[in-house]
Amino acid sequence: MSETAERVAVTCPSCSPDVETVHEVLKEGSGQFTVRCTECSHVHKTAIEREEDVERDVIVSQDGESFTATADAPPEETVAVGEEFVLETPEAIMVVRITDLQLGDEKRTDEAKVEDVETFWTRAVDNVRVNVTINPTDGRRDDSRGVKIDVPGDYEFEVGEVEEFGDEKFEVKSIAVRDDATGYDFNPLGEKGDTAVAKDVKRVYGDDETSSAWSAW
Ligand SMILES: [Zn+2]
Repeated sequence: MSETAERVAVTCPSCSPDVETVHEVLKEGSGQFTVRCTECSHVHKTAIEREEDVERDVIVSQDGESFTATADAPPEETVAVGEEFVLETPEAIMVVRITDLQLGDEKRTDEAKVEDVETFWTRAVDNVRVNVTINPTDGRRDDSRGVKIDVPGDYEFEVGEVEEFGDEKFEVKSIAVRDDATGYDFNPLGEKGDTAVAKDVKRVYGDDETSSAWSAW
């Protein structure tokens, strides 16, 4: 065994099919290596991931604030705006969606290889704060008001449905979706029955159902 022999951890079909053991690399092929188990000397071929994960900065925006974390990812992997991944921070594990990719030279792009990315700009999507504009239904146009509601990212809004959050009650009239959301044919959504999940929503427009209840008198 030469001192420069590369060593890798892979399972051994002979002595350890479930747990990785240390192997020497005897020969490199394309995507496949010939290796020898250091436990039992069995020689076999194995597929090996050459690349090691690289660490990248991740900026997470959540409820109007942001913080910086790091993530490990394979350098050859292609990432794109709109994709989601699980981010582990010392404080929490959260799902984030990529909103922008910043390359080494301050350039921004929609799609890149991990190795070219300097900073991932993301936002948390497992729990989100949704902006809602509620319009009065009795003609007082100036009195439209904005509220923010906290919901799970998968909470579904549907045009034509009545939503109730605390003291607020409104019928959803239209939904503006975010630029990083995919799978929507129109923006804003305005047909009865159109739906969007909260994490895709830029703003919900609703008609006040609280005031119409008593203005009917
Ligand atoms: Zn072995």
